[in-house]
Amino acid sequence: MTGLVLGLDVGGTKLAAGVAEPTGRLRSFLHEPTRVDEGPEAVIAHLVDLGRRAVGEVGANLEAIDAIGIGCGGPLDAERGIIQDPPNLPGWTDIPLKELIEDALGRPAFVANDADAAALGEHRFGAGRGVDHLVYLTISTGIGGGIVAGGRLYGGVSGNAGEIGHVSVSYDGWPCVCGRRGCPEAFASGTNIARRAREALAAGDPSSLAGTDVTAKDVAEAAAAGDALAVRIWDETMVVLGATVANVLNAFDPALVILGGGVTHAGDLLFEPVRRLALAQTLGPQARDARIVPAALGSRTGVLGAVAVALERKAADTAGVAA
Ligand SMILES: [Zn+2]
Repeated sequence: MTGLVLGLDVGGTKLAAGVAEPTGRLRSFLHEPTRVDEGPEAVIAHLVDLGRRAVGEVGANLEAIDAIGIGCGGPLDAERGIIQDPPNLPGWTDIPLKELIEDALGRPAFVANDADAAALGEHRFGAGRGVDHLVYLTISTGIGGGIVAGGRLYGGVSGNAGEIGHVSVSYDGWPCVCGRRGCPEAFASGTNIARRAREALAAGDPSSLAGTDVTAKDVAEAAAAGDALAVRIWDETMVVLGATVANVLNAFDPALVILGGGVTHAGDLLFEPVRRLALAQTLGPQARDARIVPAALGSRTGVLGAVAVALERKAADTAGVAA
């Protein structure tokens, strides 16, 4: 037993692999584009290769790896490690990822929804260390979430709990790809912030963003500089995110809400209004004491989250055998 764990992160745009110690100290970290159009078989072959290289980079061989954690876009069956058609991985219909990785690398593997993994990673190694009740939200190309309750990941029956991006804040609001209306993801994800700005520009609203290929980052920067269109788009986004975080506080009564993902790089421009709006809408005094803070693991979130999943599930398996 070396205690070393291999973390694998399967994203729609990026694959990442790293070897970490149980403390979360990363000994290697590699990433490459996902090339999702090549299909699951090719992507998994690339992932296996990336994992082997990450192990090789620390001067170890696979026998030195205690367990492999894998974070992947959901929906998925976390227990059996089967990927069930995630929107960001077209063609991944009932892919037995756990089995394929175990067959290829010969070590026990554990699969989790990537946002759940990130929540556990922040709990073990990041902004949530020492906090047993927390919710993590990623505000990126989509909006995902993960729940840590009593120091353990709360996955629900199938391991897909925490889909807070699809907990509507407006039952008759804007449409979402999931079929509901008023989902935070369909309004306040990076992709949708940019889309709403482009639509406002196309409607002829004057703005310093005119004529550019607008991203959410551009909207944040223009809002900070006082551009009226960008300020309006950003403020509306904050109202939705504030309501989203208020729902989280009312539903889970966490001590901490951690916000990560590219959109949160806007810093105070995001955290100040989200804190103010969310805390103003919560019910109990405990919820008003909750802290709303930035994620700490940055680009390492996916891999360290996967490592945290492997450590937790391996410990649970061992305890199960001992019992
Ligand atoms: Zn939705």
